[in-house]
Amino acid sequence: MSMEMEKKHARYVPSPETLAESERLLAKGYRGLTFPKSLERDYQHFIGSRRPKMSTYKGIVGIVMFNLFLICDYMLLPDMWHTALRLRLGVFTPVAVTLAVWMALKPPTLRVMKLYVAMACLLNASIIVWLFSGSQAPGAVVYQSGLLLVVIGMNTMLQLNFSYGLPASVAVLVFQACGLWRSPLMDNATGVYSMLVLLCTVVMSLIASYMLERDRRFAWLVESRERGRNQELVVANRELQALSNKDALTGIPNRRHFDESMAQVWATAKAGAKPVSLLMMDIDHFKSYNDHYGHLGGDECLRRVAGGIQSALRRASDLAARYGGEEFVVVLPDTAALDALHVAERIQQSVDALRLTHEKSPFFKRVTISIGVATLRPADADPDASEPADLVRAADAALYRAKSEGRHRICSAESAGDADVVAA
Ligand code: GH3
Ligand code: MG
Ligand code: MG
Repeated sequence: MSMEMEKKHARYVPSPETLAESERLLAKGYRGLTFPKSLERDYQHFIGSRRPKMSTYKGIVGIVMFNLFLICDYMLLPDMWHTALRLRLGVFTPVAVTLAVWMALKPPTLRVMKLYVAMACLLNASIIVWLFSGSQAPGAVVYQSGLLLVVIGMNTMLQLNFSYGLPASVAVLVFQACGLWRSPLMDNATGVYSMLVLLCTVVMSLIASYMLERDRRFAWLVESRERGRNQELVVANRELQALSNKDALTGIPNRRHFDESMAQVWATAKAGAKPVSLLMMDIDHFKSYNDHYGHLGGDECLRRVAGGIQSALRRASDLAARYGGEEFVVVLPDTAALDALHVAERIQQSVDALRLTHEKSPFFKRVTISIGVATLRPADADPDASEPADLVRAADAALYRAKSEGRHRICSAESAGDADVVAA
C-alpha cells in the first residue's frame, strides 16, 4: 500500500448516511455479497484503496510460478516445448508483467483490476489447454491438472470476487472440455475423471471465495460502523467542549475559558519574556438599568455590550470573555501597557457607539463602562509568587479606581492614583 493509499485508508470516515445504513444492515443480521448502492460505492473505494500493491505482489508470484512449469513442459510435453516457450515467455509473461506494473503505477478501479486478474487467469488456463491438447506425449494426461491450480489461485489467493470468479471458473471448465475433446490421447474415462475433479475444485474454491467475500464485507460493515460512531463521539465532544467554554447569555467565551486561556497565555509570555495585558470592565450603574428596564432588558444590554467589546478587538490572539454578572475581561497577549490603553479606549468608544439608552444613568443617559488596565511581564515578576491572579488583581484594583473616580473612564494600574483616560 502506498503512503497515499495508507493515509486514505486511515482517514476513511463514513458519512452519517453510510453509518445509518451500516447500522441498519447489521441490525438486520446482514450477510451477503452486495450492499445498497451508496454503501457499495464506499466499500469499493475502501477496498480499492488498500489492494493495488498487494495485487501486484501476488501477480509477480503468479508469473514466477507460471514460468516454473517450463520445466514440466520440457519433461512432459517435449513435442510442445517450443510452443510452450513462445506462449509462456512471449505471450503470457509480457502481458502479465505489463498489467502488474500498470496496476502498481496507476492503480485502476477495483472492477477494472478484477477484470485484469480474470483475463490473466483465463490466458493462463487457455495456454495449459492448448499445450496439453496439442501434445502426443503421454504426459499430457497428467499435465491438464495444472488447471486446478489456476482455479484455486484465482478464487482464493487472487481473491477474484465471486461474481467474477463464477463466470471465469465456468470458462475454465469449458476450456477443459474443449481441450479434452481436441486431445488425441484422452479416452472417455480420463475425460470424465478430469472434468469431475475440475468441477469439484471449482465448486469448493467458489464456496471458499463466497465465504471470504461475505466475511470481508461483514468486517467492513462493522469497521465502518465503529469508525462512524467514533466520529460522532469526536464531533459531540467538540460541541460539548465549545459549549462548556461559551457564555450562554452573550455567546462570548466564559470565565472558565478565560481561566484556561489565561494560564496558557501566561506560560507562553513567561517563556518568551513578553508582556501580557488585561482589561477588566464593568458596566456602570447596571443595577439601576436592571431595575428600570427589567432583567430581560438587562440581558439584552449585556449581549449588546459583549458584542461591542468583541468588535473592538483586532488581533486573533486577543480574547474577550464574560467574567461574571456585568463584568467582562479582555486578555491581550504580547501587548505593552500603552498599547493596552489604546485597546481600552477603542473598546470604550465601541460601547459608547452602541448608544444604548440608560435613563437612570447620572451621566449621559446611556450605557457606559469603566475599564481597569494592567500589564505584567511574567518573566520579570517574582518567579515564585507571580501568577495570572496577580494580573487580575491589578486590573481589578485599577477598575475599582475608575469606579471610585467617577465611572465611564479607563484607569491603568501602571499609574495608580491617576485617572489616565477620562472619556468625554
Ligand atoms: P457600578 O457602576 O458600581 O458597577 O454599579 P452597578 O449597579 O453596575 O453595580 P452592581 O455590581 O451593584 O450591579 C450589578 C448588577 O448586574 C446586579 C445584577 O442584578 C446585574 N446582573 C448580573 N448578572 C446579570 C445578568 O446575567 N442579567 C442581568 N439582567 N443582570 C445581571
Ligand atoms: Mg459589577
Ligand atoms: Mg456595574
